[in-house]
Amino acid sequence: MMLEDDIKRLSQEIAAHGKSDVAREAATATSGVPVYSDMGGTLAIGPGGEVLHYNPDTRAVTPVADQRWRTVALSRAAKNFREFASLCPIRPGDAVECDACAGAGMILNTVACGKCLGLGWL
Ligand SMILES: [Zn+2]
Repeated sequence: MMLEDDIKRLSQEIAAHGKSDVAREAATATSGVPVYSDMGGTLAIGPGGEVLHYNPDTRAVTPVADQRWRTVALSRAAKNFREFASLCPIRPGDAVECDACAGAGMILNTVACGKCLGLGWL
């Protein structure tokens, strides 16, 4: 199955049945799959696999160029949806578990780890 098909299906599911208002809004606005939210807005995987930012205040959707936020979005996508496993950076053999988040990739289950950017390894 094509990644684009998975994105379309997941986006429609989340737009209709997403856990939060923000997730449903972001899925509708981006036609993509929301994978990470914090106070700055929501990151989503767009219809073609690109990383998009949704601002719930302005409802603006913009492409994400910042490599750090792209990594956060792709690592969250891979952890939350098996369909996106191929998007995540591959863990090198000599990587070590991130000591800031103990390998979870998230701090207190809500904010992406600023040291490993959600990957859980360094
Ligand atoms: Zn970490």
